Amino acid sequence: MTSSEVQIRPDRLKTLLDGINKFGFNRQTGGYNRVGFSDMDIAVRSWFREQMKESGLDVSVDAAGNLFGRLGTSGKPCVMIGSHLDTVPEGGAFDGALGAAIGLECVRSLKDHGIEPDFPVVAVATSEEEGRFGGMLGSQTISGQLAPGWVEMASDADGVSLVEAMAAQGYSADTLREAAWPNGSIRAFLELHIEQGPVLESEQLSIGIVESISGVLVLGVSLEGTANHSGTTPMPLRADAFAGLAEVGVAIPTIIKDIGTDQSRVTIGKVDLSPNFPHTIPGRADFTIIIRDTSAEVMATLRSHIEASITDAAARNSLKASIEERSYLPPESLDGSVRQVLLEETKRLGYSHTVMPSGAGHDAQTMQAFCPSGLVFVPSRNGISHAPEEWTDWTDIEKGAQVMLNAVLRLSKGD
Ligand SMILES: [Zn+2]
Repeated sequence: MTSSEVQIRPDRLKTLLDGINKFGFNRQTGGYNRVGFSDMDIAVRSWFREQMKESGLDVSVDAAGNLFGRLGTSGKPCVMIGSHLDTVPEGGAFDGALGAAIGLECVRSLKDHGIEPDFPVVAVATSEEEGRFGGMLGSQTISGQLAPGWVEMASDADGVSLVEAMAAQGYSADTLREAAWPNGSIRAFLELHIEQGPVLESEQLSIGIVESISGVLVLGVSLEGTANHSGTTPMPLRADAFAGLAEVGVAIPTIIKDIGTDQSRVTIGKVDLSPNFPHTIPGRADFTIIIRDTSAEVMATLRSHIEASITDAAARNSLKASIEERSYLPPESLDGSVRQVLLEETKRLGYSHTVMPSGAGHDAQTMQAFCPSGLVFVPSRNGISHAPEEWTDWTDIEKGAQVMLNAVLRLSKGD
């Protein structure tokens, strides 16, 4: 049987995705709420686990809440396919859920056709990818990449610690590190995800095969000046923290133009001014700067130029500047041979496609540091994600799912 004869079942896939999205739906906003380790996240996991069981798979759950549904006997390295089930608050119907559903659909298709893979195939639904506690908890657990001391320190925006949130749902954070898979136990990891950007749609392409994923550097910056009366303090005598922040903001596009690439992204996304009162000169500005690029060298150069612009802006405005690194996820090139398989299968199926970078982080990026990994994008309407308006056409979803199934068939064959 050639792989092109084994087809996914779009109707069954759609039913599965709709089933996932019964959990956490907000009628008022149209958004989906399955934030990591919330009640809805736990509820969808237990439902998805039942779906895996009913599909006749060998099902297990690890310390992070990752779900595994295995087809084929263990003892040999597996091909793992899936994505995450958690969402951001008021997220969309496809981010994560689609990839998790396609993972299970691929394994169901193999079963339908009575295929016994030479290497086991494991459908996975990872946990806490979206970042309530920082993100990628599930894939970091599988791949043994939890940073030392991080588990004990992690907390969400409301100050709830990871340890507490996990305990409230019956999980023990103490055992996370023991859940790492042994080296060599995964021969390939595959993920399908929505693009979350406008490229595929604008070029009218169905499939994006991801070559590299941008790194993410988060800096926390404070500019400290003097709060004072906005009427009585002459302009030259001010130490206005917002004026310094504004100069940094203005410098960013020029820095990117001079030394960045078309993959460079720099964002000031969160700003706290204090006292934050209309009649008072801001005495303090605390803000984040997030730097992304697909090259570690470019990220480092961007960082040094941005830090210099902060120092200059502080000097010009009589401010004291401090800069701290909050987190750094390095850029990752995905495995060339897995990418080749995805590309060949896409071409064989005759689907329009491109090879592209990813500006957003994904489980496949984390997994690549542990095992050969591949990532496939399908188009996002208007490039929108993390919002109720998130949408991907079913014709593209079917194509994406079929590419994944063909890749699973190829990668699970052999001695
Ligand atoms: Zn996602």
